[in-house]
This record gives sequence, structure tokens and C-alpha cells, in this order.
Amino acid sequence: MSKGKLIIYTGCSGVGKGTIMTRLMELDDKIKLSVSCTTRDPRPGEIPDFHYHYIKKDEFEKLIAEDGFLEYAQYCDNYYGTPLAPINSWIEKGCYVFLEIEVQGAMQVMKKRPDALSIFVLPPSLEELEKRLRNRGTEDEETILKRLSCAEEEMSYAKHYQYQVLNDDVERAVKEILDIIRK
Ligand code: 5GP
Repeated sequence: MSKGKLIIYTGCSGVGKGTIMTRLMELDDKIKLSVSCTTRDPRPGEIPDFHYHYIKKDEFEKLIAEDGFLEYAQYCDNYYGTPLAPINSWIEKGCYVFLEIEVQGAMQVMKKRPDALSIFVLPPSLEELEKRLRNRGTEDEETILKRLSCAEEEMSYAKHYQYQVLNDDVERAVKEILDIIRK
């Protein structure tokens, strides 16, 4: 069986990464999403150990000390990190393993794993991003404003990624990503 691929997958909060990811996994069962650890609280509807492993700050810092993460970062006052253990075994099984991570973590993975593909999902515009974040209705005003200011900074990193995919239409973006990873 041929080896799989590691895929760094980034996009600003509200860009539609989650929707695209769900669709990708429906279309190809070799596509796997790494489940990250985070210190943020679950949002309504999020399922522990499916969307994230929700852990306390001291547990997270213990895992950092034990080298348990491929990468980790602080984003909007919380820690997020990719547990190392499951990734290599999925790649050995021929899977496409997506790391849905922000830019600081992505830069770490690009250095550590030069074989990884990198994809940045862009919104049609910042106005559209703000609209999507507000429509989602899962964040308070302060968090929305913080995430919008992070988004502007994050988009300046898009040029460091091998591929930039515009999410103007979910099905179109999904097809573009499938073409990239199956190349
Ligand atoms: P959210 O709180 O909206 O779920 O995630 C906030 C940001 O953290 C998103 O850009 C998301 O992709 C990123 N993120 C999620 N998991 C990880 C991770 O394990 N490592 C890093 N570096 N970023 C992550």
C-alpha cells in the first residue's frame, strides 16, 4: 500500500474550513482529520474527542513538556496542539491526514515535515468573513472582533502555503482540494 500524505490546512475563523472538511471526509474515506487538543471551552454542539480533546491548561503544559505535540500554538488566549501519536500510523495506512491548524503551528510543521502539503483557505473578502462569523452566532462580540483582527494578520501568511484555495463556493473548493491531494 502506498504511503499517505500529511496536509497542513489553514484558514481564518469563519472561512468555512469545517464545512469543507466535513464534505471532503464524506467523499473519500482515506481523508482523516487529526483531532487537536485545546484549552478553550466547547462550543454548543461540539462533541468532546470528536471536534477536540478539551483539556485544562496544566494538562496541556504537561504534554508540551513530554514532547507530546507535533506542534502547538496560542491563539486568541487559548492553547491548541496536534497530538503526535495518531498521525504517523494513519500515514503508514495510506491516509490523507489533515491538520486543521492556525499559522504559527503551520510554520512549525512546514519546518519539521517538509514532505507535508500546505493549503490555505481564503474568504472571498473580509466583509464576507465578518458576515459568516456573525451568522454562525457561536461567539460573543468581543471574540468576534478578536477573531477578525487575527484573520487579517493570518491572511498575510497565505503566501507561505503551497496552495491558496478560495472558498467562494464549497463544492468548487472541495473539488480543488481533492485535485491537489490526489495529484
Ligand atoms: P477554533 O477555536 O475556531 O476551533 O480554532 C481556532 C484556530 O485554531 C483555528 O484557526 C484552528 O484551525 C486552529 N487550530 C485548531 N487546532 C489546532 C492545533 O492543533 N494547532 C494549531 N496550531 N492550531 C489549531
